[in-house]
Amino acid sequence: SAARLQAIDAVIAYEAPHPTFTPTEAPGEVFGQNVFSKAVMRKRLPKGVYRSVVATIEQQKPLDPAVADTVASVMKDWALEMGATHYAHVFYPLTHSSAEKHDSFFEPDEDGGSIAEFAGKTLVQGEPDASSFPNGGLRSTFEARGYTGWDVTSPAYVLDNTNGRTLCIPTVFVSMTGEALDHKTPLLRSQQAMATQAARVLKLFGHEDPGTIVSYAGPEQEYFLIDRHFFLSRPDLLNAGRTLFGATPPKGQEFDDHYFGAIPDRVLAFMLHAERELFKVGIPAKTRHNEVAPGQFEIAPMFERSNLAADHQQLLMVTMKRVAREHGMELLFHEKPFAGVNGSGKHVNFSFGSSTVGNLLLPGDTPHENAQFLVFCAAIIRAVHKYGGLLRASVASASNDHRLGANEAPPAIISMFLGDQLTDVFDQVAKGGATSSKEKGTMTIGVDTLPVLPTDPGDRNRTSPFAFTGNRFEFRAPGSMQSIASPVYTINTIVTEALDHIATELETRLADGAEFHHAVQKVLEQIITDHGAAVFNGDGYSDEWKVEAEARGLKNLRTTVDALAELTTPEAVELFSRYGVFSERELHSRYEIAVEQYEMSIAVEAKLAIEMAATSILPAAIRYQTQLAQNVAALKAAGVEADTTLLEQASAPIAALREAVAALKAATFEPSGHGPAYARDVLLPAMTAVRAAADELETVVADDLWPLATYQEMLFIR
Ligand code: ADP
Ligand code: MG
Repeated sequence: SAARLQAIDAVIAYEAPHPTFTPTEAPGEVFGQNVFSKAVMRKRLPKGVYRSVVATIEQQKPLDPAVADTVASVMKDWALEMGATHYAHVFYPLTHSSAEKHDSFFEPDEDGGSIAEFAGKTLVQGEPDASSFPNGGLRSTFEARGYTGWDVTSPAYVLDNTNGRTLCIPTVFVSMTGEALDHKTPLLRSQQAMATQAARVLKLFGHEDPGTIVSYAGPEQEYFLIDRHFFLSRPDLLNAGRTLFGATPPKGQEFDDHYFGAIPDRVLAFMLHAERELFKVGIPAKTRHNEVAPGQFEIAPMFERSNLAADHQQLLMVTMKRVAREHGMELLFHEKPFAGVNGSGKHVNFSFGSSTVGNLLLPGDTPHENAQFLVFCAAIIRAVHKYGGLLRASVASASNDHRLGANEAPPAIISMFLGDQLTDVFDQVAKGGATSSKEKGTMTIGVDTLPVLPTDPGDRNRTSPFAFTGNRFEFRAPGSMQSIASPVYTINTIVTEALDHIATELETRLADGAEFHHAVQKVLEQIITDHGAAVFNGDGYSDEWKVEAEARGLKNLRTTVDALAELTTPEAVELFSRYGVFSERELHSRYEIAVEQYEMSIAVEAKLAIEMAATSILPAAIRYQTQLAQNVAALKAAGVEADTTLLEQASAPIAALREAVAALKAATFEPSGHGPAYARDVLLPAMTAVRAAADELETVVADDLWPLATYQEMLFIR
């Protein structure tokens, strides 16, 4: 096919604009250069105003409205000096991307000139039209307005790209009645709830003023890079972000060797360039390449407060995509762009603490500190066991379904890995209270110290969805394309419930006159007995685990349809509303939106599959079939015996493809309103049948007729 071969020619002829990218400054010079940081504020704001803003950032105090005008005016001057012409409230609607509404700083004045305007109220609140964002029934169509509100805890920055400079202000996005329409609002709410319950527990451990406890998140982002000519030549990549067709190439990921050696310069130039752009807006990027699938890479920024990490993660995705294009490549964040090679995830590393008490998931040096560490670990054990279904739901999407449970990503069963030492400690704790504490192999809380736990970089058990790695947990199920907000606010909320439970238990026992460490021992024992079933250190990919998990009563929510149902259970409604993270209405709206997105994305793929099969694959196959038929006819006419094997080999999958396309078409034209299970049980299998026939044709049809860039080309030519 002309288009495909032209794409290959274009890739070969392509000269990168930045064959080598040499940053002129040291990372330290660029880092945070475009951020309205605390340092900038300290220099520019009056002392009292600065203190008030910092109190808001650090102790989550409400912003004093009296200071808003001063901050706005100083921020505006700074942004203008940085060359910004516009400002934008950046918000995070319930899609995979972030949204911005740009307004100019300049307003015409009465004399026909212009003045730069930016008042406190403009900084603090915006009113974008909310009607085109998913709201799941929270906002009736006649009330299209939504409100954005400045999140003081996430610093403003100047975004600098080829089309100009814009002052960006991270905001929440809510309806007129204050209901959350975005990812950030529940994250901030969950953060607050967690801080309250964590402080209760810490108080019992003698921390009268532990500081505001926050959660920290460090996301590891995987992605694919392909030449943009190939990307543009494939309607499926362009519209669905993944290939709906493509025969398995003769060479896949089995060699782990080739891709980086072949074209390191182009990818490296991209990485250095992207890293620099990320540094400028204050994202602490740490780049490296991955060696799993050809064309697949990973970037892991340093962990930050989870609210900031979530904003940075969204900005990182936008920035990386933009820079990749400047280097003639398309960056794919889809969880499974190519069947048969590894997909992409986004591991979310998670811990919590404050500058006063440090990391609460770090084992301490004294028996008392260890007791505290074990209590926080136990909170997570209870949370994961009790609400594993919600964790699964927090990462559910049509695209992530292609990855979870597919022996390259954690299984859909949510269990946790503690490692042998820590598991052993909890086993001993469980025994300790039951028998005499002097018995060998038991551990007494507040007396014994922990064995040295290995700080594991995480490679020891890749199969666990939720793994302890020495000073944090790593949640490995999130999809590469999703916002990290929903896994993070889910973890925050379920841990909040566990900390609340623990604090109440301890307080009750202490009020009854129990000795402190004895009370801790009893509470830990109870948690291990009730929730220890979530702990699993074995091979999560094995079939035995599926059987055992079922026997342990753990859920195996294989698909998004199963997982999303978890969001509307009475327990979920109770949990999220008790801690003020979601009202029942808000939670239902999340459910509606997620279901709708699931159905829509599969419906789009089904239509694309039909279109591509009908308008490019079948015509190419028929052309080839015709050539073969003409060949047979010509041979016969010449009196030569004609072998029809090839013709038959091509004809069978052509018939199969015709039939499969007709069936898929019929399925998509069914009246809507079937519910998400229809997409899963009818549309997806019908698409698979279309793909099977088309992929077989790819191995049969003459190469010069084949219309779609092949896996081999996309993954290996750059
Ligand atoms: P690995 O390959 O071991 O998973 P990486 O270095 O790729 O490790 O990523 C680890 C991520 O975990 C980084 O984003 C890092 O900043 C983050 N991280 C490290 N310590 C913590 C912590 N205490 N809390 C949250 N995230 C953390
Ligand atoms: Mg990791």
